[in-house]
Amino acid sequence: MSDRQQTEVTDVVSDWETFLKRQYNKRERVELAKEFPHKRSFYIDYRNLEAFGKRGLSLADQLIAKPEKVMGDVKDALVRLGVIEEKDRSSIHIRFTNLTRKTAIRDIRSNQINTFVSVEGILRKTTEVRPRVTSAVFKCLECGQITPPYPQKYGKFQEPFRLCATCQKKTPLELVPEKSDFVDAQKLRIQESPEGLRGGEQPQTLDVDVTDDLTGDSAPGDRVIINGILRSFQRVNAGTKSTLFDIYLECNAIEVAEKEFEEVNISDEDEAAILELSRDPKIYSKIPRSIAPTIYGNDDVKEAIALQLFGGIPKEMPDGSRLRGDIHVLLVGDPGIAKSQLLRYIVQLSPRGIYTSGKSSTSAGLTATAVKDDFGDGRWTLEAGALVLADMGMAAVDELDKMDKEDRSSLHEAMEQQSISVAKAGITATLRSRCSLLGAANPKMGRFDEYAPIAEQINMPPSLLSRFDLIFIMTDKPDSARDMAIADHILKAHSVGELIEKRKRMPMEGVTDEYIQRELKPVTPDIEPLLFRKYIAYAKRNCFPTIQPEAREKLRDYYLSLRNLADTNKPVPVTARQLEALVRLGEASARVRLSPTIELEDADRVIKIVDTCLRQVAYD
Ligand code: ADP
Ligand code: MG
Repeated sequence: MSDRQQTEVTDVVSDWETFLKRQYNKRERVELAKEFPHKRSFYIDYRNLEAFGKRGLSLADQLIAKPEKVMGDVKDALVRLGVIEEKDRSSIHIRFTNLTRKTAIRDIRSNQINTFVSVEGILRKTTEVRPRVTSAVFKCLECGQITPPYPQKYGKFQEPFRLCATCQKKTPLELVPEKSDFVDAQKLRIQESPEGLRGGEQPQTLDVDVTDDLTGDSAPGDRVIINGILRSFQRVNAGTKSTLFDIYLECNAIEVAEKEFEEVNISDEDEAAILELSRDPKIYSKIPRSIAPTIYGNDDVKEAIALQLFGGIPKEMPDGSRLRGDIHVLLVGDPGIAKSQLLRYIVQLSPRGIYTSGKSSTSAGLTATAVKDDFGDGRWTLEAGALVLADMGMAAVDELDKMDKEDRSSLHEAMEQQSISVAKAGITATLRSRCSLLGAANPKMGRFDEYAPIAEQINMPPSLLSRFDLIFIMTDKPDSARDMAIADHILKAHSVGELIEKRKRMPMEGVTDEYIQRELKPVTPDIEPLLFRKYIAYAKRNCFPTIQPEAREKLRDYYLSLRNLADTNKPVPVTARQLEALVRLGEASARVRLSPTIELEDADRVIKIVDTCLRQVAYD
């Protein structure tokens, strides 16, 4: 090393020293030193680096470009400051949190290999924590000589040449576990968050190698930020090395993302707009008209879904049990009446909405699964399905009647307890699935038979049906007036669409912005989707209405009248669940106008909706 290089290096270490001295005064450093080497990680907040002036910015840049060198520099500085001892260097990790720049998983490119990156998403899979050898010592079975340690990397096990250096014989060499070093290791797969995806895009994933004190702290479904060094390794296809490389993230730090709705940023201006909207006397007609306006009619369904988006309030009972606040809605209907279309629209409005199909292609299905496959290299892997990934949001499940048997049984627990337990061989875990479920299904024979009772044509067991707060029957009986209206509605949207396209190519007489706006009115949402989404997030964050005595009595009396009317042998029996549903819907109804109380008007609205549903299925 030349003199000049030497001084440069020392300068950088002194910069770290100065930075660390700013963060911790003399006394704090003495305290800190007592914690090491028992404590294994030293955390640095990246924002503090940026706040440390020009030199800090340079250090921050170095971290991104040459992370390994930086970790060494920081350790040098910590040794100089007496926080850690030279002998503990290799067992202590320098970890960085709160990076300002995040890389989207789909934007990761080869020029980022060996640099420091920060990605954000949901954990989709996690394996068991198992030891991995980091440095292997072997013994010659011929002469008993012990080899020097062979450092091991992620992936393939490195064995020495089968030639003993001492006795020079070609002999089997055996691993000596007691003399080798191991580290706890776990593999994770992180997937892009659904809210960051544009409609219909498949989320992309990145595998993460987690070691030592970071293992075992996260579960599938967790929202995390993971920082680390992007690594590559060569692919091997059937024993031959390929020119293609795969990437993975060598984890440096895992940060748990803030729990709810952090993706929805509400500015002061937004808040003003939201509060104004909440005072609008027409809010209850505006909201359904902001849901899938291209779909004609179905106003009752849209109103119910609006309440589902706002949701009720989860409650912890003194005995430790928990009542869900999420509202589950099921649409059973003939094919071709825009069920799928509606579901796809709703997930875009819902903060954390996920669209999936009941006969989904992933192995995790709707709930969760534990498997032993290639991903875990022989370890058990726990994989989250749609209802776990939609935790704190909404899962829109199309073709719900076509789901697997296994999913069907775990769906019971997911809908009521809002958790999914997996107990299989090596893995036992409980994953959270605090989401509302919007399901769509076809009738038993694919289409409703006019002459058979509707309730018997729903292709789901009563135990599952009773967990839905609302079940809508959507039949497609020809009705000329309605058909005409739908046809006009669809054709209008198409022809205005054509006009807009045409106008892009050439100016058109009389086709002004105002004209188009007027023509598009019927298919334009009353509340702009972006604001609507914020409105929902705001209500869920800030509005926790309580029920007024008159409203309470009204709901109770209605429930009692239902019990008297309905036959408990019906496929959709009226149970105590319906009473809970009434309360949840009442809470949602009050939230729509951001009201702190559930009034008589809410009770009336809710009873009207529940009655429409029950009239179709429970009592006919
Ligand atoms: P489903 O999932 O119920 O079988 P889809 O959602 O696939 O039906 O809808 C089929 C098509 O019919 C969609 O393109 C949809 O836009 C159209 N459609 C059906 N009913 C309506 C309606 N009431 N208003 C507007 N479009 C409709
Ligand atoms: Mg469909």
